[in-house]
Amino acid sequence: MVPGRRLPAGEVVDLHLDAPETGQEAVGDVGDPHPVSASPASGGPRRRSPGWPPGRSGLGHASPVPLPSLRRRPTSPPDPDPSLPTAVFLHAHPDDEALLTAGTMATLAARGHRVVLLVATAGEAGLADAALQATDLGARRTAELAASAAALGVARTEVLGYADSGLGPEPGPVPPPGHLPRLADAAVDDVAVRVAAVLDAEDAALLTSYDAAGGYGHPDHVAIHRIGARAAQLAARTPVLLEATAPRDRLLAAATRVNRLLPRRHRVDLGPWQSAYSATTDITHVIDVRGQARARRAAMAAHASQATGGIRTLGVFRRIPSPLFGWAFGREWYRQPGLPPRDPRDRYRDVFATL
Ligand SMILES: [Zn+2]
Repeated sequence: MVPGRRLPAGEVVDLHLDAPETGQEAVGDVGDPHPVSASPASGGPRRRSPGWPPGRSGLGHASPVPLPSLRRRPTSPPDPDPSLPTAVFLHAHPDDEALLTAGTMATLAARGHRVVLLVATAGEAGLADAALQATDLGARRTAELAASAAALGVARTEVLGYADSGLGPEPGPVPPPGHLPRLADAAVDDVAVRVAAVLDAEDAALLTSYDAAGGYGHPDHVAIHRIGARAAQLAARTPVLLEATAPRDRLLAAATRVNRLLPRRHRVDLGPWQSAYSATTDITHVIDVRGQARARRAAMAAHASQATGGIRTLGVFRRIPSPLFGWAFGREWYRQPGLPPRDPRDRYRDVFATL
């Protein structure tokens, strides 16, 4: 994970290094010793892409973007069985679904559940290299989201159209009048009503959101925590609400190990990690998603623009060879609000266990 060095073999960690930091180097510059089998049509992960054509390409339209993962779908989930409960996954930005809940989504789709993906923003304020920033990054990330959703067997994908609030010293711009606000500025009820309308239309039994910390603290992720809780209240049929999260102590341990490998100037300040994600005992559900490693990897590979613009979680994780990938990403964690602290050995293993 150190720019300019070979990737260490056998050293795999699960952590989220998504915060922009000045002075970071692009993972796209690192030599890649592992061919990426999930995107054969591209000959490997897409690196810097100059000359990206601007223009809108929302979901449901022909995309000008070559999206190898959309053409070569690694799994073919069955058509949803209407007798099985429907699950709605609410996320802040394109790529969050790949990082946090992709295995759960693919597992449910493979079992015949109808899986719906709601993403509040197009992720246009996220990190990317200069060539991408000069183009319509939101349109590109929306197209990437469609490819990821296809890889996971998602039946319906909606982008709600709020502006990406950005993170760190350069927050996303305030949209001009007549446009939806930044997600972090939007009234919780305004967004929650829209989410609840989808829950009602889908008669959804499950809604996922984020933990109270918003994972690593992105303001849009904190907003999704509040919006998810409110939408679950507003829905005609109250869904089981699960907050996607991760065990904080494991992340801290992994990040501490990675930090030791990095030159001092690249080390991550672990202070904010002390309150990121969730305490281990607050996690109520752990989902074994080892059987969906290919789908998860394809979903990550679909978000090619996320591999630019700095040390990015996706840029690093996509380079993990497949056998290790299933091991490193073999679990996804959730917290159901209102349930008492739980012994890790007694966690629920199915998202519908408390239905
Ligand atoms: Zn995000």
